[in-house]
Amino acid sequence: MVACERYAVIGFPLEHTLSPAIHNSVFSKLDVPAIYEKAVVKKSELEGFCRDETLQGFNVTIPHKEAIVKFLSRLEEDAKISGAVNTVLRTPTGLLGYNTDMQGLLLAIRRLGFDYKDSRIAVIGSGGAAVGVVIKAAMEGAKSITIIARNEGKAEAIRAKAIAAKNVDIQICRLAGLAYAEEKFDILVNATPLGMGRAGDDFQDFSFLKSMTNGALVYDMVYNNWETGLIREAKAQGLVTGNGLSMLVSQALLADGIFLGDRFPEERAGEIFEQVYNEVVK
Ligand code: NAP
Repeated sequence: MVACERYAVIGFPLEHTLSPAIHNSVFSKLDVPAIYEKAVVKKSELEGFCRDETLQGFNVTIPHKEAIVKFLSRLEEDAKISGAVNTVLRTPTGLLGYNTDMQGLLLAIRRLGFDYKDSRIAVIGSGGAAVGVVIKAAMEGAKSITIIARNEGKAEAIRAKAIAAKNVDIQICRLAGLAYAEEKFDILVNATPLGMGRAGDDFQDFSFLKSMTNGALVYDMVYNNWETGLIREAKAQGLVTGNGLSMLVSQALLADGIFLGDRFPEERAGEIFEQVYNEVVK
């Protein structure tokens, strides 16, 4: 019997990770004897780390979400379709890989009263985060999806992956073209680091917000700054906004559900979300 279970987030770099604060808060609220740490793991150390049996499970962040796949025994559906894993559970039959980012963002969006189903969705970015948004939106029955990217080749690859999961109308355009797009959008997701606060790395202007319908949602996945320029401007235009922290907490709670099994009370997920979100925002 395990006296105190151990979990961790692995990645590199990890100085600013909020994961230990979020998961330890959940464990304490549920009175589970577990600790959650951070472990700096470089690429060359990943395989060896996977053989270390002292952790019951772990979360995976940049740069290992795709590289970890080859060390796992099985993948659940979202991880298999996206090719990216952010949660790993150690079982007697091997390591199971999950992707809770995709469902975590959808839950965060639903908490704001929106849904991918039947929505016209625009996603800025063509990196790992954008892949998960586009594929999940396609699988959930979005009316249309527009990928806004500076790298057309990467956007094309995401479109092909999403269409393989579910046939859906997917357009590709550049940010500057969005203000003139014929289509209006119900949900816009920023899946780039623009707005994180790095000098000179922010949107040049926000004219693309003209392409949103009245009362639409602007969701910024950036989570180290919950009043990004994009969020401020969207609020000023009367749009609904969400910041990446709600996704971060939602995906963490889904991961804790995987780690703890039936010790995680699903009926308390909403209440725990509110408490942990407010703790982290402070
Ligand atoms: P990534 O794989 O590095 O992709 C970043 C994307 O942003 C790429 O498409 C990149 O374009 C684009 N980009 C970067 N700088 C840009 C610029 N100056 N102008 C236009 N496009 C630019 O990163 P990721 O893993 O997808 O993460 C993206 C963001 O989502 C980050 O802020 C991350 O913190 C956030 N995120 C949040 C959560 C959460 O729980 N809230 C979870 C995952 C990620 P190129 O491909 O052309 O370089």
